[in-house]
Amino acid sequence: MLCSPELNKFDLHSHTSFSDGDLSPAALLRLAQEHDITHLAVTDHDSVAGLPQARTEAAQMSITLIEGIEFSCEWNGQLLHVLGLNIDPAHDQLLSGIAQNQRLRQRRAERMHEDFIKHGIDLTERVSELVGEHGVPTRPHFAQALVEQGIVSNKNQAFKRYLVKGKVGFVPMPWPELAQVATWITAAGGQAVLAHPTRYKFSRTKLVSLIETMCNYGVRALEVSTPITEPKHAAMLTDLCLRYDLAASIGSDFHSQAQPWARLGGAPALDPRLQPIWSRF
Ligand code: AMP
Ligand code: MN
Ligand code: MN
Ligand code: MN
Repeated sequence: MLCSPELNKFDLHSHTSFSDGDLSPAALLRLAQEHDITHLAVTDHDSVAGLPQARTEAAQMSITLIEGIEFSCEWNGQLLHVLGLNIDPAHDQLLSGIAQNQRLRQRRAERMHEDFIKHGIDLTERVSELVGEHGVPTRPHFAQALVEQGIVSNKNQAFKRYLVKGKVGFVPMPWPELAQVATWITAAGGQAVLAHPTRYKFSRTKLVSLIETMCNYGVRALEVSTPITEPKHAAMLTDLCLRYDLAASIGSDFHSQAQPWARLGGAPALDPRLQPIWSRF
């Protein structure tokens, strides 16, 4: 895909109500149009179920939908998020990978409920309503239920007092290995991109070690630009892309209009020296 940066606005990381986003795919597309986005990737956690609705809506606008997903996986015992962009969402291998991760999410949700109930908090009904018929259970659904029951005053507090390592509601899961997830994405014709590389709080040395490993698995791109990437981090990621011949992606990680720090279309343009990921679509 060849596109002039002056005439196009890309946002290649966003969520809908099919995972932990607030908006339906159709509403997300309408918001993208308001923000003059020309290319939008919908990347729900471990799900492609929202893509048909997004595709239908995008077809009625002048927006190119990039079909995507955000997989949870593991490298060296550390949870990572890897985006699959420009995938074929009907590919068999991809679909069986998605089913595997969704089973893990269901099992984790059941254990989270058990843990909460042990501590006198019953979130089962509300979480199941929030997830809905087609969604996948995520920690933000639990956070929302904790807020609504008055147990915490906002989601951020929910992620401090509950849901994280050492607190009630944290259940570690054996996510698939990075190599495995990379295979699913590549088999489905997609580009695998390491999402928000600075959020893992790795040292530069550890990030380089991850990059060297992931290149062997066919993950040859970093999400360089997000609305909250500090300039010094963007400079480091740009340098790593140039050094290791990685493509660069840009995405807001939009979930909700109540999160102004992750505004749809809010990621600044890429350094012109970088190879944009869409040149590989
Ligand atoms: P999960 O993949 O179900 O473990 O949930 C991870 C999601 O939780 C991320 O994609 C974020 O959307 C959300 N999240 C993580 N930390 C926070 C936080 N401190 N406040 C609000 N949302 C968070
Ligand atoms: Mn999320
Ligand atoms: Mn993520
Ligand atoms: Mn995300």
